[in-house]
Amino acid sequence: MAIKITDDCINCEACEPECPNNAIYAPEENWKFSDGTTMQDDDEHEAFSDEFFYIATDKCTECKGFNEEPACAAVCPVDCCIQDEDNVETEEELLAKKDKLHA
Ligand code: SF4
Ligand code: SF4
Repeated sequence: MAIKITDDCINCEACEPECPNNAIYAPEENWKFSDGTTMQDDDEHEAFSDEFFYIATDKCTECKGFNEEPACAAVCPVDCCIQDEDNVETEEELLAKKDKLHA
């Protein structure tokens, strides 16, 4: 399951540098698979939010393969990094996603 950021976000930026997949972006910042990964895909994808930091779902592995717990949730001062019930994935799927991002 990916993690998502809710509209309780206060845009403090604490989570952004913690993500091992560079899946966290500032509001209005477009995301790319190649940012912080070994993927060669430089296509720009539209920002999910123009108001709050957001997580590019396709790059979030719930920190599998890196950390015991989601690093963003661990540092968020307002606990707004939560499970994304619309994007449920198994541990195997998350680890495969991590391998795709970091070949
Ligand atoms: S759970 Fe981990 S991989 Fe997903 S956005 Fe948060 S820090 Fe990044
Ligand atoms: S740490 Fe929490 S409040 Fe700060 S930018 Fe990230 S999601 Fe928003």
